[in-house]
Amino acid sequence: MPSFVDSAKCDGCKGGEKTACMYICPSDLMVLNVESMKAYNQEPEQCWECYSCVKICPQGAIAVRAYSDIVPLGGSVQPLMSSDSIMWTIEFRNGNLQRFKFPIRTTPEGSIDPKNEAHKGKDLSDNRLSDEQIDNVELMSPIELLGK
Ligand code: SF4
Ligand code: SF4
Repeated sequence: MPSFVDSAKCDGCKGGEKTACMYICPSDLMVLNVESMKAYNQEPEQCWECYSCVKICPQGAIAVRAYSDIVPLGGSVQPLMSSDSIMWTIEFRNGNLQRFKFPIRTTPEGSIDPKNEAHKGKDLSDNRLSDEQIDNVELMSPIELLGK
């Protein structure tokens, strides 16, 4: 099920130029109806339920019912983000409720410079990951790994 905006909770991000859900959606699906000042998903069939809009909405106005293999019918998963943590509220089919709280990354938005040496890989033909290259990790060959 795609994202769904509860119009009673959405405040259009208080009339900002670009709402939080518009800013974060990787598929540019969220739009704001400037007359009603309510956001909506303009192409629900394109939504891949990444939860980004659900996490960022300051009003907790967006819900996504995940695929049935993650959340069987009748269950729900709802995140609530604060400045330093995210709380996941999981409601199971039988009505049981559990909450899980995790710390989150607090790097300010837009503060990462991908061209900075510390963040980019050194060599695209190198089999190591960018971080492994920076840390100069030695990779074992498949034969060494299998001990043959
Ligand atoms: S982020 Fe939430 S409050 Fe802001 S426009 Fe989107 S649905 Fe509405
Ligand atoms: S769940 Fe992801 S893909 Fe779907 S509308 Fe929200 S941000 Fe976009």
